[in-house]
Amino acid sequence: MKKINTDVLIVGAGPVGLFTVFELGQLGMKSCIVDSLEDIGGQCTALYPDKPIYDIPAYPSLTAGDLIVNLKKQIDPFKPTLLMNQKVVELEKYDEFYNVKTSENNIILAKCIIIAAGNGAFGPNKPPIENIDSYENKTIFYHVKDKLRFKDKTLAIAGGGDSAVDWAIELSKNAKKIFFIHRRSKLRAVPQNVETLHKLEKEGRIEMMIPFQLDSIRGKNGIIEKLVIKNMDEEKKELKVDYFLPFFGLSTNLGPIKNWELELEKNILKVKQETCETNLNGIFAIGDVCSYPGKLKLILTGFAEAAIASHNCYNKINPDKTLHFEYSTTKGINKL
Ligand SMILES: Cc1cc2nc3c(=O)[nH]c(=O)nc-3n(C[C@H](O)[C@H](O)[C@H](O)COP(=O)(O)OP(=O)(O)OC[C@H]3O[C@@H](n4cnc5c(N)ncnc54)[C@H](O)[C@@H]3O)c2cc1C
Repeated sequence: MKKINTDVLIVGAGPVGLFTVFELGQLGMKSCIVDSLEDIGGQCTALYPDKPIYDIPAYPSLTAGDLIVNLKKQIDPFKPTLLMNQKVVELEKYDEFYNVKTSENNIILAKCIIIAAGNGAFGPNKPPIENIDSYENKTIFYHVKDKLRFKDKTLAIAGGGDSAVDWAIELSKNAKKIFFIHRRSKLRAVPQNVETLHKLEKEGRIEMMIPFQLDSIRGKNGIIEKLVIKNMDEEKKELKVDYFLPFFGLSTNLGPIKNWELELEKNILKVKQETCETNLNGIFAIGDVCSYPGKLKLILTGFAEAAIASHNCYNKINPDKTLHFEYSTTKGINKL
């Protein structure tokens, strides 16, 4: 458990949350970012890293992945505390600060909060199996962090999209055997990679279990003894595997933020356009998660909102000081 004292807690490390670190830093404020994903970048990293974006000012075209690489470079001088792989959960208000607890039991004490949570916290879509959580991070993984864990092991990979196909190809290089489970014969992945998958099937490195889906898991203490799959006629097969990797995509959920007594409409937080402040004093919302009349859900709008919210945080945190507006060309980078 970590206890972090900061000026501003930023919820969400999407493009807008990242740029907020810069805006706060330029005004001399420290920040801590929390994100439920393993990697920074929000939708840009999770949904379309290789797609070119054409409406970032001064960049006629750059990929979403490169936008995040550049934002990371831009915020590095401000050394934000990054707490990844965890959601913000509980919020308590004390006189001078907010006390926020994360799902990893870290505590952040912040004078203001800027919510840049997009459509909500990203998390894996999980197979609807009872007790699945008792196997998670032991023999069931929703993403691959350490490929060597799967060396010489028998794996089951489920899903029909790019992640399932790409990881089956990659892990087949060192795994003992891979069962590839999908409920339809058509795979939604890049055709060239689907071809490679079938080539590996012919070579005996991958066994296709199609059309099958997961029925249940038998095992104990987090160790899978048998993975039970079934076809459309409810015929079952038992697979002896060491690990199971379901790749069913990501879904988003605003989760516990909904219980923070913020004014919400259809998962969107209402803010005053001139400050980006929510109905709670010192809590701001920017980027895709916020709404006001005329709001455009674009990255460039979110960047402007980051500047507006940061200036207003300064006024909250320093009520006795007058903020002298300065261009970055005048003051340079305000290294903290
Ligand atoms: C395919 C596609 C193409 C697009 N093309 C363009 C384009 O060309 N131009 C453009 O301007 N926009 C485009 N967009 C939209 C753009 O990606 C979004 O407007 C932008 O990502 C919003 O940024 P954000 O930082 O507000 O939110 P997000 O990018 O959604 O990031 C929010 C982050 O907050 C985290 N989070 C949420 N809740 C919690 C919580 N409780 N605890 C911890 N973490 C949490 C999430 O995990 C996520 O990482 C596109 C979107 C898609 C899907």
